[in-house]
Amino acid sequence: MAYSRVESLRCVACGKDFPVEAGAMTCDRCGPSGTLDVLYDYDALRSSGAREQITECPERSVVRYAPLLPIQIDETSRPLPVGGTPLVAAPRLGKELGIPRLWIKDESRQPSASLKDRASLVAALHARQQGKTKVATASTGNAASSLATVCAALGMEAVIFVPAAAPRAKLAQLQVCGARLFLVDGAYDDAFDLCTEACRRFGWYNRSTGVNPFCSEGKKTCALEIWEQLGNRAPDRLFVSVGDGCILGGLYKGFWDLLQLGWIECLPRLYGVQAEGSSVIAEGFAGREIVPKPCTTYADSISVGNPRDYRKAWRAVDASGGEFVLVSDGEIQSAVRYLARQTGIFGEPSGAASLAGLVKTAPHQSIGEGECVVAVMTGSGLKDVAGALKACEPLPEPIPPKLSALSE
Ligand SMILES: *Cc1c(COP(=O)(O)O)cnc(C)c1O
Ligand SMILES: [Zn+2]
Repeated sequence: MAYSRVESLRCVACGKDFPVEAGAMTCDRCGPSGTLDVLYDYDALRSSGAREQITECPERSVVRYAPLLPIQIDETSRPLPVGGTPLVAAPRLGKELGIPRLWIKDESRQPSASLKDRASLVAALHARQQGKTKVATASTGNAASSLATVCAALGMEAVIFVPAAAPRAKLAQLQVCGARLFLVDGAYDDAFDLCTEACRRFGWYNRSTGVNPFCSEGKKTCALEIWEQLGNRAPDRLFVSVGDGCILGGLYKGFWDLLQLGWIECLPRLYGVQAEGSSVIAEGFAGREIVPKPCTTYADSISVGNPRDYRKAWRAVDASGGEFVLVSDGEIQSAVRYLARQTGIFGEPSGAASLAGLVKTAPHQSIGEGECVVAVMTGSGLKDVAGALKACEPLPEPIPPKLSALSE
């Protein structure tokens, strides 16, 4: 049954409950900043064998977490193997950082090569369940190429609003998948507003991050996987990059669900890493205030001047005893190289930013020898080759194909 274990949707700002069937995206009292949590009947989940259902599921993709998802899963819900990404041990990197138990959650191994696929699949299935065939999103690039990929696999239509400066590879991906593309002459934030209005006017389903509670539910599966991959335990600390705040909020929700179920004993400390040139959520944390400002970072996926899911991001850091960390573009470029050279994982700048945050803050955190630390690497370096080139030296001069030239 659809929604069978969902109890309600609850506003993160004022706590008002909405029945899931009503299809609310944000709170009518609080407006767009009143994003919603999907709450489940945790007692019923516990007593109905949800844990066995999950751990005994032969499938590795996100559908194994069906008991904890707000959508109906059936044979037609598995068009792509979304999720099931590796948690890669990084002993050499960990040794250098003084963290022997360090793991990288490698989300570059998703069908469209970013973590966004988790949200796109759950949101698209929710749209389909509501009888909608057109799904729209605003995006800095990855949510767009991800939605296009998932919709192509499900036989649905994707309508995409991206800033005109989005990386070409991400646009190529969505164009090849046949999505309807609108390049918006402006920043991500302008694309976001246009998409919201268009969905209202044309009745399209809105997948935009930060207004759609089902995106958080998709992204939380990353936390559920980490829990299983560590042997049914949470890490002690987890680092992730932050743009709109939805991934950080989603990871928190995953661990929070596990805590409600009594399947973990405490939350991991969550560290939200932002670029210095896109730091509105981090800078507003202490005073709980959002002051939008133009972005200057080259890490396009976390370049968000007017973040929407900030309440969930703040709560994640606050309730887990974590911190926000700011990193420069130079530190991100170093992290791209460092990650690749120590682990073989090629991250896009916004993906390697989590490691940049860990490298920067680890010396101040007195991380214990036995602590287990995870950095989430959110997207592949192949999605933004121009960005990757910033971390590379210039190409060497070509040499004649002679051993004598090589010896010189
Ligand atoms: C979207 C994205 C982020 C940031 O996620 P938010 O939910 O916007 O905070 C980080 N890294 C990559 C690769 C992304 O695509
Ligand atoms: Zn509210």
